[in-house]
Amino acid sequence: MTYQIAIDGPSSSGKSTVAQIIAKRLGITYIDTGAMYRAVTVAVLEEDININNDEEIKKLLNDIEIQFKWVNDQQHIYLGSKDVTEEIRSTEVTSNVSEVSAIKEVRELLVDLQREIASNNSVAMDGRDIGTVVLPNADYKFFFTADARVRAQRRYEENKAQGRLDQTLEELTELIIKRDEYDSNREISPLKKAEDATVIDSTNMTIEEMVESVLSLIKH
Ligand code: C5P
Repeated sequence: MTYQIAIDGPSSSGKSTVAQIIAKRLGITYIDTGAMYRAVTVAVLEEDININNDEEIKKLLNDIEIQFKWVNDQQHIYLGSKDVTEEIRSTEVTSNVSEVSAIKEVRELLVDLQREIASNNSVAMDGRDIGTVVLPNADYKFFFTADARVRAQRRYEENKAQGRLDQTLEELTELIIKRDEYDSNREISPLKKAEDATVIDSTNMTIEEMVESVLSLIKH
């Protein structure tokens, strides 16, 4: 029998890191749904699509294919035949992803894809609407939170480690707050805690503590 773990929360709350680690320890599939919205954003920017034009959006969505593949023990994301794993983390993509994610047709396509993956595999899936919309019957639901300042600091360290230094801590804090606000207030599937989700405030937690607090509740 397959089972599902839904992990939601705002950006840099620790959810992706934790979802990835617990999936590995439990031997199940990790799905980063944010990466999928980011990959669509790469396509929108590349094709210079006007996101207010329904026809242009529909045509683009008909034409694109998004896939996860394993390369050297790392999960990579592909847009058609192109590996966009690095590109999806660019400042340009991060600045535009919330607007693209708010488009109904984009969400319909990706939610279908996410549900399909979860129907055939045990998954740890992280995002903004997994417990509320994508997998409302998930066996386990978690909602990660953390102070915005701490989240910006984490993103800053992450960027630094990857050699991406085009934003100051202040700029990152501003962008994170703006993205959370946009994601929480959009009409379709806003960022929201599912009623039956366990809240984990990761502000003062190490990664191992976050992992343990999730794993202690998993009975599979
Ligand atoms: O998780 P990450 O920060 O990579 O997500 C990027 C963006 O994708 C979010 O800011 C949000 O706009 C969108 N997203 C979403 N629903 C999800 C996952 C991500 O709308 N399930």
